[in-house]
Amino acid sequence: MIQTAYIRSQASILIASDETVGRTSRWVHSHLIQALDPIKGRQLRAFKDIPAGTRMLVDRPYAIIPVVDNPATNDDLLCSNRACNCALRSNVSRVSCPHGCVADVAWCSSTCRDADKAYHSFECNWLKRYANSIRKKWGEYVFGMSWLIVRMLASRHIERTIQHDTDTSSTHGWRHDWCGIELLCGSVDTWSHEQVRSWTLLVKKYLQNSAVLPHGLTAQQVLHLICQEEANSFGLYPRETGIYPCPQPHINRGEQFAAAVYPLAAMANHSCIPNMIHKPDEYGHMVFTASKDILAGQECCISYFDLTEYTDLTSRREHLRKSFRFTCQCDRCVSETPAHELNDWSVMPSMDI
Ligand SMILES: [Zn+2]
Ligand SMILES: [Zn+2]
Ligand SMILES: [Zn+2]
Repeated sequence: MIQTAYIRSQASILIASDETVGRTSRWVHSHLIQALDPIKGRQLRAFKDIPAGTRMLVDRPYAIIPVVDNPATNDDLLCSNRACNCALRSNVSRVSCPHGCVADVAWCSSTCRDADKAYHSFECNWLKRYANSIRKKWGEYVFGMSWLIVRMLASRHIERTIQHDTDTSSTHGWRHDWCGIELLCGSVDTWSHEQVRSWTLLVKKYLQNSAVLPHGLTAQQVLHLICQEEANSFGLYPRETGIYPCPQPHINRGEQFAAAVYPLAAMANHSCIPNMIHKPDEYGHMVFTASKDILAGQECCISYFDLTEYTDLTSRREHLRKSFRFTCQCDRCVSETPAHELNDWSVMPSMDI
């Protein structure tokens, strides 16, 4: 493995390295801090001025799944070993699961597969038993969501049974283990009754604690985890998300190839005029970069969607409300809102992230 050096100056705090591949996996710029806003909850804030172009945060997925059509031939399939996650080009040989669970699971080498054995063992039986029926009855999106939940549970399982190193702790108050997942926002109250009913059924049928999926959590806890995952997971795209003003002509961020949950990156709130852009690196790590000069005390935000895709206020609002369950009150939304509507904001649901 090639070692990727993210630490370029002293102005960064190393959160954790992955010793199995000698790779620095999580770090935070020392001018970036966590803060608690009475309305928005947890947020990222600049402690000192940060110039545009500064790399602000790199976070490794707590769980990641590939999102590709035809995994057997797709160049964007990721190595299943979460410490590797390299792209598996279709012209290079891949190692499949010896138990033949799903084609979406493959490794770049037998070494990577063997190193991933304990983790994959947690999900393999579940995938064999349920992947096809969830895909057929509930569709690809729900399958992906369920698999991401299973992989979060797998990470928790490994953390509690096998891994006892420093990667399971908190560094400078940045929680990146299961405790970091528990801190994520999200609750059943923000979703419609119909949606919650559907997820409740999904948990009962496929995600309950059982011999196939021995996680030890109650159905209610898994349902809560789904709400957290839906409010906090990232889609991974080949190009940057959040460039503003939008490039002309509009270049979108490309096709999604994975979905992941990042305990630290999930702390960033949304703005339709963000001061950070985000993009995964070649190993599925999420990288935040300042896209503007950020002054001390300012909140550091990303855009939760492709700004070239939802440009006017109405479409942004509709998308955020449908997918993220809040009404954005960023400076851009406020400035584009007709004056008579601004007075009504006191009765609209506030940003809950
Ligand atoms: Zn690999
Ligand atoms: Zn398998
Ligand atoms: Zn906005």
